[in-house]
Amino acid sequence: MTEIKLYNTKTRKKEVFEPIDADNVRMYVCGPTVYDRAHIGNARPVIVFDVLFRLLRHVCGKKHVTYVRNFTDVDDKINARAAESGRSIGEITAETTQWYLEDMAEVGALEPTHMPRATGYIGEMIAMIEALIAKDHAYPAEGHALFRVRSYENYGALSGRDMDDMIAGARVEVAPYKEDPMDFVLWKPSSEDQPGWDSPWGRGRPGWHIECSAMAKALLGDVFDIHGGGLDLQFPHHEDEIAQSCCANGTEEMARFWMHNEMLQVEGKKMSKSLGNFFTVRDLLEQGVPGEVIRFVMLSTHYRKPMDWTEKKRAEAEKTLYQWRENLTGVEPSKPNDELVAILGQDLNTPQAVSQMRVLFLSWINARTHGENFDKSELEWEAEFLASAQLMGLLTPEGGKWFDQSFDFSWHIDAFLKARDEAMDSKDFSKLDALKEQLVEAGVVVKMSKEGVEMSQGPNFDASKMVGLA
Ligand code: AMP
Ligand code: ZN
Repeated sequence: MTEIKLYNTKTRKKEVFEPIDADNVRMYVCGPTVYDRAHIGNARPVIVFDVLFRLLRHVCGKKHVTYVRNFTDVDDKINARAAESGRSIGEITAETTQWYLEDMAEVGALEPTHMPRATGYIGEMIAMIEALIAKDHAYPAEGHALFRVRSYENYGALSGRDMDDMIAGARVEVAPYKEDPMDFVLWKPSSEDQPGWDSPWGRGRPGWHIECSAMAKALLGDVFDIHGGGLDLQFPHHEDEIAQSCCANGTEEMARFWMHNEMLQVEGKKMSKSLGNFFTVRDLLEQGVPGEVIRFVMLSTHYRKPMDWTEKKRAEAEKTLYQWRENLTGVEPSKPNDELVAILGQDLNTPQAVSQMRVLFLSWINARTHGENFDKSELEWEAEFLASAQLMGLLTPEGGKWFDQSFDFSWHIDAFLKARDEAMDSKDFSKLDALKEQLVEAGVVVKMSKEGVEMSQGPNFDASKMVGLA
């Protein structure tokens, strides 16, 4: 069995991964709050933990890995979005959940084994809070339930924070119902117009952290193998999850391994709407950037390093994938390359795995020239190359829609240029605009410049809509 070593935030060391139960390797990753399209940073944990999921399935067997990623569908950001848009909460969360699944499928992420929604586990959350209160780890106050942080001596161990420093930080605005400024909310009261459930503390809704503790317990048990998420969640979210779960379940630990991906930024700057460098996964797909290219760019940086999304990386990734796909002849994948599996086993060293893919590609192309290479035929190399790529979620059949550039746009380009000339003469651009809109509607990426017009197939390209367009 390939050795897997993972960096454990808890011990700040790379450790050999030994499953608690080899028949059921269990991983929980914090998922999205569903009120808006996922931005490109949100795709990073999805891709990172998808690679780990694929690796675990490869090493431990498909049937022996359980992966849970939740949807946070009760949150004040969702309430605010409903209030400002005049739409119902249910409509917003259902729509956003669907978008998320579509967008993450585009970047090649497998669906986790379970994708629980927080609102489906309110009963479990209430039961856990009751257990915490019964053990004096929590207390009710003015319609709230609060976790008594000082009752858990390991609080702060994961993020390496000192209790006294945290108190200093928490003093700014202390709610009157808190015994101690450090205490955090497990349950809070809801007004008439806010979503709420009946509870022993009155009608209300859960605080954010308790949902992950309750869903992980219900689906994975009291102690499981790996808990993951973005680095921004390490404190306080994961610290609070550990405190709740360990105190309620009476365990020493919640998960053996805690893993955190570093953050993504764009062209050297933190993504923000005001800087104009904020974009969603869907924005990129609609600009014609294939999901597979997004995935490749993400894999090119190690997950524990900050990563920068740049146009240059996008272009290079697309060139590489194009070259790889262009050479595929349609053989079935065989087994992934041993060295590549070992590289991924070293704390998911995806940048080195990408380098190894380039080595394998050259070996394959060399075999084509010489008939064979290191005792392997051209086809054997291709099959191994393909299996290796697919272990990382690349070069899959579903990921290749963008490469199928079979549609011939020359007729539409001519018609478009003619319409443009007419519009220039008559100064009436309405027909040209309408034509462009129809092309975009058919999933065509239209790029206009002084030299002319270029058309290519976007992710939603639908050739049937091209008929009769001019
Ligand atoms: P949220 O919906 O904000 O709770 O985030 C969902 C997931 O995306 C969490 O695991 C976050 O840690 C992660 N995340 C958010 N922003 C970024 C970013 N810029 N880079 C990497 N991961 C991020
Ligand atoms: Zn969580």
